[in-house]
Amino acid sequence: MTPPTPPTPPQAEGEQPGTDSEPLLQVDDMVVSYGRIQALHGISLTVAPGELVTLLGANGAGKTTTMRALSGLLPLGGGRILFEGRDITRVKAHERVGLGLIQAPEGRGVFPGMTVQENLDMGCYSRPFKTKAEYNETLEWVFSLFPRVKERQKQVGGTLSGGEQQMVAIARSLMARPKLLLLDEPSMGLAPMVIRQIFQIIADINAQGTTVLLVEQNAQQALTRSDRAYILETGEVTKTGFGRDLLHDPAVKSAYLGVG
Ligand code: ATP
Repeated sequence: MTPPTPPTPPQAEGEQPGTDSEPLLQVDDMVVSYGRIQALHGISLTVAPGELVTLLGANGAGKTTTMRALSGLLPLGGGRILFEGRDITRVKAHERVGLGLIQAPEGRGVFPGMTVQENLDMGCYSRPFKTKAEYNETLEWVFSLFPRVKERQKQVGGTLSGGEQQMVAIARSLMARPKLLLLDEPSMGLAPMVIRQIFQIIADINAQGTTVLLVEQNAQQALTRSDRAYILETGEVTKTGFGRDLLHDPAVKSAYLGVG
């Protein structure tokens, strides 16, 4: 099954992810405040096409604030956001969805009274398909990534397990054919085995060509799977690097991996 988003070509050996191609997402000096409380103090980051990038940070670091600002749910007090080279800082949230900047629902966000199929169909509401064939192709692609979701197609959302709800939430956002998929702590509250499954699926989604920006506290899983990561502390980026390098960084190990 061909994914609706064409896979990006594999990188040449020695090529540095996120540094050589034009960014899909570029955030420059982003400032966000809640009233007088400044939550983000000018953060900058990039995500190149095809990358899986993680934003890692402890509670209150500003991860969710970053995601909401990228989705257009919070206004910027300074800085700018470029998507495919276009300044979208003042573009409304629903228009960003139309451009392919899609955030999976926070905290799973499954509609409990709707069937799984109806939940999936809500995903393409703001990015409708031109043809039925396109819809069918995308649905098949989503089902190939989430066989469990296919099995539960007719089941009501509220009766699913936590892990299944998370899968439906991600599956629903894929129905909008994201160019950039934003995931805010998809592992939250799930059992370790389910967490591993979810991270494997995220890696598969990425391997099949969808660019992913992931916010996480689960450093081990996130860094293992990521091309690059940014460490966020009290609203500032304090470190950035390749996922596998940060996994062995002494400061990261002691702060986020409980080692050291
Ligand atoms: P968590 O993992 O706990 O959700 P986070 O990294 O996502 O943490 P944010 O939720 O983005 O962090 O919060 C960043 C800062 O902004 C924190 O100091 C938080 O207290 C503050 N904050 C978040 N939401 C609000 C709000 N609605 N009003 C005021 N301050 C807020």
